[in-house]
Amino acid sequence: MKIVVLPGDGIGPETMAATLEVLRAVSSRFRLGLEFDLDVAGHESLRRHGATVTPALLQKVKSADGLMLGPMATYDFKDEARGEINPSKFFRKELDLYANIRPSRTYPGLQHRAGEFDLVVVRENTEGFYADRNIESGGSEMLITPDVVISLRRITRQCCERIARSAFELAMTRRRHVSIVHKANVLKIGDGMFIDICRQVAREFPEVQVDDFIVDAMMAHVARAPQRFDVIVTTNMFGDILSDLTAELSGSLGLGGSLNAGKDHAMGQAAHGSAPDIAGQDIANPFSLIVSAGQLLGWHGQRRSLSAFLAAARAIDEAMIAAIQAGETTRDIGGRLGTAEAGRAFAQRMLER
Ligand code: NAD
Repeated sequence: MKIVVLPGDGIGPETMAATLEVLRAVSSRFRLGLEFDLDVAGHESLRRHGATVTPALLQKVKSADGLMLGPMATYDFKDEARGEINPSKFFRKELDLYANIRPSRTYPGLQHRAGEFDLVVVRENTEGFYADRNIESGGSEMLITPDVVISLRRITRQCCERIARSAFELAMTRRRHVSIVHKANVLKIGDGMFIDICRQVAREFPEVQVDDFIVDAMMAHVARAPQRFDVIVTTNMFGDILSDLTAELSGSLGLGGSLNAGKDHAMGQAAHGSAPDIAGQDIANPFSLIVSAGQLLGWHGQRRSLSAFLAAARAIDEAMIAAIQAGETTRDIGGRLGTAEAGRAFAQRMLER
C-alpha cells in the first residue's frame, strides 16, 4: 500500500511524525509493506510551489492507495487566485470523498464528562453549506454589496442517498441504530429531502432502528446522554460541528479521528485543525491522527479483503485503549508525555504485542 503523506500546518508536522512512527511499526508487525511518499501541502507548498496544492500532487495522490493529510491552516487561505486553496476541500472534491466518518468513544481510565459512549458521526463531505465545494467552478459565497453576503447551500438526491447508505452500512457492523440529524423545521426543502431520502434508504435495512433529531436539540441530547447514539448521519456543516463536540466529550478534540472516504480513494485526517496556539511546543495530541491512520488501513483492508490490514486497524484501536489506560498520553488528556514521546511509546506498544 502506497500512502502519500502531507504533514500540514501548525501541529501537523509534529503529529504526523508521531503517526508515521506508529504506521512504520504496524507495517513491520503485520507485514503490510506500507510505502510512504512524503510531500507538502498548505503553507510549505505555498512557499515552495506558489500554491497550497498542485496538479502534480493530485496526480500522485490519485495513483496512490491512500492519503494521510495533516491539519491545514485553512483560515489563512483566502484567495485561490494566489494559490491559497483549501487542501481539505481540494482533495475531498477532486477525489469525491463524500463520506466523512468521525468516530468518538470514551476510554477506560480517562475522565468523561457525560458517561461512557461509542458513536460515529457520518458527515456528508462534498456539498451543503460549504461554499468552496458545492458548485462546479468558483465559490457559492457572494458579496452582493459591501454589506450584503449570500452563501448558498447545495443538497442533492445523489449525495443524500450515498451518505445515507454509508451510515446504514456502518450501522449494520455496529449496534444497528441510525440517528438522522437535520434542521428540517427551517430548511424545509433541503433538509426535508435529506430526511426523506435517509428514511427511504432505511427501508433497505429493516434491522436498523432509525430516529431523527433537529440539530440544535441534538447538541443538548449529545451533551446530556451521548450513549443514546450509535451512528449519526447528517449534512456537511452540522456534522463538522457535532463531531468536534463528540470528540471533546470523549476527552479531547485531540482524540477525534476522521476518515474521508469515496468509492476509489480515502484520506485519513484528524478532525481538528492546525491548532496554532500550541504548534511547535511538542504538546499536541497525536492520537487523533493515529486513529485516522488506523481507519485508513481498515478502509483499505475492507475494500481489498486484506485480513492483515483489518487486523492492523484493530490493533491500533486496542493499543489506543491500552496507551490511555497506562497514561502514555499528552497533557490534554492528563498524561505527561510530549507529542513525539507519546508517538514513540505507541509505536513501541505496537511492536511488543
Ligand atoms: P483547532 O481545531 O485547530 O483547535 C481548537 C482547539 O483545540 C485549540 O485550543 C487547540 O489547541 C486544541 N487542539 C486541536 N487539536 C489538538 C490536539 N491534537 N491536541 C491537543 N489540543 C488540540 O481549531 P482552530 O484553532 O479554530 O483552527 C486553527 C486552524 O485550523 C484554522 O486555520 C482553521 O481554519 C483550521 N482548521 C483546519 C481543519 C482541517 O484541516 N481539517 C479543521 C478545522 C480547522
